[in-house]
Amino acid sequence: MTYRKFKADYLFTGHHMMEAPSVLVTTGEGRIKAIVSPLEAGEDVEVFRGILCPGFINCHCHLELSHMKGLIAEKTGMVDFLLAVMQQRTADPDRIAQAIGEAEQDMLDHGIVAVGDICNTTDTLSRKREGNMYYHNFIEAAGFVPQAAAQRFEASREVFSQFASLYDLPVESNSMVPHAPYSVSGNLFGMITQFPGNHLLTIHNQESEEENEFMTGGTGSFLQLYRALGLDISFYRPSGKRSLAGLLPYFYSNQSLILVHNVSTREEDLRSVEESAPAGLEIYYCLCPGANRYITGMLPDIGLLVSHGCKLVLGTDSLASNHQLDLLSEIKILRQQYPQLDTETLLGWATHNGARALQLDATLGSFRKGNQPGVLLLEDTRGPQITEATRVRRIL
Ligand SMILES: [Zn+2]
Repeated sequence: MTYRKFKADYLFTGHHMMEAPSVLVTTGEGRIKAIVSPLEAGEDVEVFRGILCPGFINCHCHLELSHMKGLIAEKTGMVDFLLAVMQQRTADPDRIAQAIGEAEQDMLDHGIVAVGDICNTTDTLSRKREGNMYYHNFIEAAGFVPQAAAQRFEASREVFSQFASLYDLPVESNSMVPHAPYSVSGNLFGMITQFPGNHLLTIHNQESEEENEFMTGGTGSFLQLYRALGLDISFYRPSGKRSLAGLLPYFYSNQSLILVHNVSTREEDLRSVEESAPAGLEIYYCLCPGANRYITGMLPDIGLLVSHGCKLVLGTDSLASNHQLDLLSEIKILRQQYPQLDTETLLGWATHNGARALQLDATLGSFRKGNQPGVLLLEDTRGPQITEATRVRRIL
């Protein structure tokens, strides 16, 4: 059997940064055999400058919106952003397909090996069938009018069925998920979370404070959204609860949930999770700082999330709200804003934590023996720390 041996200044295992020089040994196909000392490694070691790291896991993307790159103005706020996506997402199918292909290639070039991808359509299906990268497809349903729930659910289930039947991967690679608390009625929520086999779910959570305002008291700028959509929401009786507390009761103890954005998540929200989330419900918090900066200019309170022991993962969101699909760029934004976050922590979110959240840690996210996570090289680092100048490339 042929082996490959890699050595750089530092090696990040998916869990921690090894500072003593170590050699990563893999099979020719990239299956991890061992991490050994240079003395034990023998000959033919490929030597690099920088940090070796497992492939990145992008926990939140909308690949099907890739043709919208640069279309929407920055920092318009949530309501105008949502309306712009709805109004401008239609395009020529060839252009949509071409943008999807380019965006996927871009992710591969930036070291991403797996994606949690939101799907409202089957536009990404043919590209995904090529099998260039691993996807968990989150088939997303939305509909705020309770009477329309069954019809909306059926439409999304049709998309789900197409992914499940045409996509040559197990059904566990696909889930039905709710879009956001303000766009999914209680009826539709129940249909989604009770859908058989639906164990891994995700939802956009507290992307802006206006969302909390609407969920708590039915007021604020979100009213403009429904008005612009011509939706009569006179039926709506706000729960009095903030977004996160309001959505938790819909989930079950055997499910896992990735909460995306969390820009306006506060201490009281995390306390409501600790006090009232179904026992056993596994929760991950996905940060998409590039998209937050693009849409509202606000970032989540990461110190708060860390201090509550939240399991954090990273996402790029879509090219409608980001300039690139690159987790290293997301890490750099977090480091600019929170210089106290060290590279070891951030790489853990981008690798092992992401793989756990997408339930792919038996193969991806770490250099554990037997895994096949891809091998990245981070170059132009300052010792074991990522800087603005750092670049990523995949070496296996
Ligand atoms: Zn999103």
